Amino acid sequence: MIEFQQVHKTYRADGREIPALHATDLRIEEGEVFGLIGHSGAGKSTLLRLINRLEEPSGGRILVNDEDVTALDATGLRRFRQRVGMIFQHFNLLSSKTVADNIAMPLRLSGAWNRVSLDRRVAELLERVGLREQAHKYPAQLSGGQKQRVGIARALATGPDLLLCDEATSALDPQTTAQVLRLLAEINRELKLTIVLITHEMDVIRRVCDRVAVMDGGRIVEQGTVADVFLHP
Ligand code: ADP
Ligand code: ADP
Repeated sequence: MIEFQQVHKTYRADGREIPALHATDLRIEEGEVFGLIGHSGAGKSTLLRLINRLEEPSGGRILVNDEDVTALDATGLRRFRQRVGMIFQHFNLLSSKTVADNIAMPLRLSGAWNRVSLDRRVAELLERVGLREQAHKYPAQLSGGQKQRVGIARALATGPDLLLCDEATSALDPQTTAQVLRLLAEINRELKLTIVLITHEMDVIRRVCDRVAVMDGGRIVEQGTVADVFLHP
């Protein structure tokens, strides 16, 4: 479903060149939970953000469902992003909007939902992440785990087939982390969503991932099933 062909990325900042991803080949299959692990600065975030073109590659091709996302125009990119949800370490919720309105944001932006179908969709998403009782609360009134559930519901709103998770549990305590990971596993199983997640915690990989790539210095230095990479060194 996702294929990187010789993708590289160099940032330019203050007249300096900062290599973040060296020429990389990678395949992520439909329906799997794929983990990227590595130290801070390894290039995980860059790789993830290249998938939905929050970053432009400096070279190479990125195919998602056989479509070259590096070649999309503005309209194509907007349509493509409806099929890719993303969640973040610090949730990125709008503090002035209720839980329900945060979740409705991508639907309102798409312009494709009337009031009745939008309300029904939001109710369904609240149910899916277990936040029916919190619909009219504001983010500041929620626990960290609840905030990330809102983030997940918002990411799922447009019915994506791919979910990108950028350190989605790094701001949560171990018990809440376990709950959020269970929810992600359930979403992967029931909605057949492909999930790509980045983390610096081995335990997160061990709990939910089918396959994993280890990154270091802008390179994938090892990849395979979780058992292959971590249990049989
Ligand atoms: P994290 O806590 O996830 O590791 P980072 O500090 O890596 O966060 O990145 C936070 C934001 O700053 C990101 O949007 C990233 O693209 C940007 N960023 C990271 N490193 C640099 C840098 N050297 N120069 C400019 N922006 C950077
Ligand atoms: P990770 O997610 O593994 O912490 P990143 O992809 O955020 O790694 O960063 C990889 C390298 O790219 C780091 O050296 C980081 O400082 C640099 N970097 C990331 N984002 C930016 C940016 N927006 N501008 C300049 N350098 C960046």
